[in-house]
Amino acid sequence: MNLFDSVESIKGVGPKTAEVLKKAGIKTMRDFFYTLPRDYETYAAPTSINEIRPGKVVIKGKIDSLTTRRARHRNLTITEGIVRDETGGVKVVWFNQNYRARQFTPEKEYYFTGNYELKNGRWSIISPSAALVSDIDPTSGLTPIYVAHGSLKSHDFKRFFNGARGKFAEIPDLLPTVKPGTRREMLFRAHFPNSPKDIEVSRQYLAYEELFELILAAKLNRRENEKLKSVSVPFDAEKIRGFVASLPFKLTNAQRRATWEIFQNMEKSVPMNRLLQGDVGSGKTMVAALAAYETILSGGQVALLAPTAILATQHFDSLSSLLEPFGVKTALLIGATKQKPALKRQIASGEINLIIGTHALLTDDTEFHNLALTIIDEQHRFGVEQRQKMVLKSPQGLAPHLLSMTATPIPRSLQLTVFGDLDVSILDELPAGRQPVETKILEEVEMREKLYPKMREILAEKPDIKGKGTKMHGQQIYWICKAIEDGMKGPISEATSVKTRTNKLREVFPDKTIEYLHGKMKPAEKNAVMERFANGEIDILVSTTVVEVGVDVPNATLMVIENAESYGLAQLHQLRGRVGRGASKAYCFLITSGDIQPSRRLRELEKSNDGFYLAEVDLKIRGPGEIYGSLQHGALDLRIASLSDTKLIARAQMDVEDFLQNPENMVKYKELMAGIAKYQQLTTLN
Ligand code: ADP
Ligand code: MG
Repeated sequence: MNLFDSVESIKGVGPKTAEVLKKAGIKTMRDFFYTLPRDYETYAAPTSINEIRPGKVVIKGKIDSLTTRRARHRNLTITEGIVRDETGGVKVVWFNQNYRARQFTPEKEYYFTGNYELKNGRWSIISPSAALVSDIDPTSGLTPIYVAHGSLKSHDFKRFFNGARGKFAEIPDLLPTVKPGTRREMLFRAHFPNSPKDIEVSRQYLAYEELFELILAAKLNRRENEKLKSVSVPFDAEKIRGFVASLPFKLTNAQRRATWEIFQNMEKSVPMNRLLQGDVGSGKTMVAALAAYETILSGGQVALLAPTAILATQHFDSLSSLLEPFGVKTALLIGATKQKPALKRQIASGEINLIIGTHALLTDDTEFHNLALTIIDEQHRFGVEQRQKMVLKSPQGLAPHLLSMTATPIPRSLQLTVFGDLDVSILDELPAGRQPVETKILEEVEMREKLYPKMREILAEKPDIKGKGTKMHGQQIYWICKAIEDGMKGPISEATSVKTRTNKLREVFPDKTIEYLHGKMKPAEKNAVMERFANGEIDILVSTTVVEVGVDVPNATLMVIENAESYGLAQLHQLRGRVGRGASKAYCFLITSGDIQPSRRLRELEKSNDGFYLAEVDLKIRGPGEIYGSLQHGALDLRIASLSDTKLIARAQMDVEDFLQNPENMVKYKELMAGIAKYQQLTTLN
């Protein structure tokens, strides 16, 4: 067997099944072996049916009277039957699992496990898992549960793995280190565990394998990046001091430190690959401005890439007013920009020093004269290819320096692994005078009593003088909704749309200007609304999460997030970060439907304003797979949650060092080297 053979070499998998597997991303034998169980069911120590008690039960028996029918009102089918042993019988019920009707043979004995409970006046076991007694190891009672893919259910995967039992012995090793066992043993244990310990040991090994790949990819990236050349940007102390002195505020110490790290880095003729992490409102834009100015002083061009037109426009406004007085030519390039060809000519000729834009910057016909620094704001919003495209715009074989910025703090353990090849600067200090945003969870029904009065107060509050608007008469409010149109389902109940909410608020605050904003509006419309909000012409902005990243309106001091339970922790923190950017006290209300207890996420948010702390909490609550997902758009998908295991990370790091000592390894471990290619693309400059 070769690991890269098609799955059709498995007993019971024909062309049709192979097609379904392929859709699920399972193409080769390797993919197949790594289709790990989602969980395990235990059928150990079954109870006699006459002795079962409410709660989770395991029973063993034959099933009869199996029927499937459609429920009267709802889109629901019900399959039920009676399971019997020598002591009695009990009803079992499944919902929308029609295949159950075909799963059982009347003469055969099965295990069932599920909750025994009173439902619609009858005691039954609801949606039990089931397995053929002869398929289960009698001592451990353990059996894997696989994620269903299309027509293929968990028991189909069990059948395939049973058919492929003999092939495990042919799995070659991936890594040189083989403690506590070989890969073939560890994968076998994952699919056919004899004990809970087996599951844990194999999980550890597979997590280790993944970490090894990630760390190796990061280290090789760094090696390769160090071979690239870039323009050295010298430090111009006098000009930089002049610029800093012109600012209306003093830089924070963290901003100074980060800027210094960047300057030192760019002085080298190896390209910088640096991530600037700073909580929302920590002043990353200012650091970017300094890096840009320094680069432009040395004669190079700078591109700043932002994920949305709103954000790009805002960066353009603030950076051009900061830098134009110092002779920097600035331009904005977004989808809505008119006269693109003329602008692109000016970029190509080098007439423009600083180009700020969205994806529109990435098109092939945008050429630079001498791009020396690329800045990517909210880097997690960009895919790998987009980042690479930007890097490819370098002139004459010289790679531009790269500064990525993110407000989604990356937990340390992640940094050590995937991002191990990046240099990191951290803004761990907010500008002086900032107060934490006071955060409260509120049920929808409490809005009239507890939220509206607060809103009235805010709208009557003296404007925050930091705001640039001239038309301000009070402070401003963001109101975040889940849906653009009515009828879109929230996770629990129907979510109120931006339009409906706008109308409702107009009734409550008839003398206020209330407008809405959402992603489906034309860019020009969006910009116009945002502009008016920034100028203080709009009192309440009802919006979807398009305002999530970066938007900076210091006079907005109250944030309301409706359907708060439907957002992730990082996203909620980002949204909340839109307020508390000025000198005034700011508030955030998390509105829940009240049907369920507020989740841990919301309670943590109520307690803390610290993005780094919240990121760690998020890692614990969700598991790193999902964090990666949100950071990297699924470019990385980790099979095993392992990034909170610092001991394992340390061990993998040491082993990777050893591995790299011997250049022959790079040739010898072909599968490993092929596997890490996908990780390498994540942060490479090449
Ligand atoms: P973020 O890190 O979230 O991108 P911004 O760069 O948008 O934050 O900065 C947030 C606000 O803080 C802006 O209004 C900016 O002008 C202001 N700001 C930045 N640095 C300082 C400072 N050192 N002192 C006071 N205000 C600052
Ligand atoms: Mg920002």
